[in-house]
Amino acid sequence: MINKQKGTLDVLPNDSWKWHKVETAARETARLYSLKEIRTPTFEATELFLRGVGGTTDIVTKEMYTFTDKGGRSITLKPEGTAGVARAYIEAGLSNEPQPVKMYYFTPVFRYERPQAGRLREHHQFGVELYGAQAASMDAEAILIAKSFFDSLGIKDLTLNINSIGCETCRAGYNKALKDYIKPNLDSMCDTCKVRFDKNPLRILDCKEEGCKTLNKNAPSVIDHLCPDCAAHFSKLQGYLKAYGIEYVINPLIVRGLDYYNRTVFEFVSNSIGAQGTVCAGGRYDRLVSDVGGGATPAVGFGLGLERLINVMTALGLMGEDISAPDVYIVTADAAAETACLILGKELRESGISCECDHMGRSIKAQLKYADKLKCRMSCIIGGDELSNNTVTVKDMGAGGQESVKRDRAAAFIKTRLYGGVKK
Ligand code: ATP
Ligand code: MG
Repeated sequence: MINKQKGTLDVLPNDSWKWHKVETAARETARLYSLKEIRTPTFEATELFLRGVGGTTDIVTKEMYTFTDKGGRSITLKPEGTAGVARAYIEAGLSNEPQPVKMYYFTPVFRYERPQAGRLREHHQFGVELYGAQAASMDAEAILIAKSFFDSLGIKDLTLNINSIGCETCRAGYNKALKDYIKPNLDSMCDTCKVRFDKNPLRILDCKEEGCKTLNKNAPSVIDHLCPDCAAHFSKLQGYLKAYGIEYVINPLIVRGLDYYNRTVFEFVSNSIGAQGTVCAGGRYDRLVSDVGGGATPAVGFGLGLERLINVMTALGLMGEDISAPDVYIVTADAAAETACLILGKELRESGISCECDHMGRSIKAQLKYADKLKCRMSCIIGGDELSNNTVTVKDMGAGGQESVKRDRAAAFIKTRLYGGVKK
């Protein structure tokens, strides 16, 4: 028996409705904010992620699925969604279109991580990318989009953490302050942080090792080292969040796991799914497009982990009922009625009613039991009597009553019963 790979999940037929539910809500949020979907390939040139995500990040140093293809090219399965979007934005000349260019995507994400609860080797993200606007109102809109999406699903237990990691100007001063603080304790830091100390000190704040995390708690705050422009941008962002009535916590330890961020970074964290509680993470990345070969393009966005989102909703009892149950089950009450049942099924579907017919030769009782199991709201029975009277017996699976309906009126009758005549 060949099993699925470590850190991957199958979404089985009885669970896929959960994905449809969150994806439908995401697409509706996207529509309300006038975002257009972008789909980019699952694999890209490795170079894109080296330049985009950054050579000192965990993703690039430890987690990428990289291989050489038969043409000798170095290829990497997407370890995040943004770099591919930036590449497509440049390649398709989207900078020539009216700005901002507001996009969203669904993507699988591949990272060679140590699998544990909430940490997979293939996970999926709903992502938002807002290109072309420098204004803090765009950062606030990115956060508002995520918040509206969570609200639409009834999720209330998330804490929004925000921070600003400034620009290159602020970073020089901050790096020095951080290094001065870390230096006396450098020996006790993990090996990765020792490398980060020289190459990219800010990354130290993102370390997941307990010893490093403890030391980081009292590290100087990046917010205290913002240049006037970045400080003003951060303060404007907070003004917009307050105006929107969005509660937030300023958390100076959030720096995010990718190098491309500057100024705003944020995370929505849940308390209901254990240690891997970050459901949505994002920020501003004004350098990314130029880092991967385009012109200077301010940008802000986020990635939202769909497996973690579904875990949160399940933990909070918000997932609701399976919405994929067929409306009607057609019971073949006599072998002679088989074709009539199949034709009725075709007709119901043509009028927008989802239904299921018998293909297993079950008894009437077993068919009704199965209809119950499928959670059908109604059933239609055709047997010898119905065939000779040219009728259909329509049964309400919940209330239990049944009525005889003329065959040519069956679809209209059922539609009225199910949706008051109008397809939902
Ligand atoms: P973490 O700090 O948890 O490793 P990250 O910084 O790597 O997160 P991002 O790259 O910003 O996370 O990804 C955005 C979102 O995607 C995360 O907030 C999370 O919901 C989800 N995510 C990231 N990595 C995984 C994973 N290995 N398994 C499942 N979901 C993930
Ligand atoms: Mg990670």
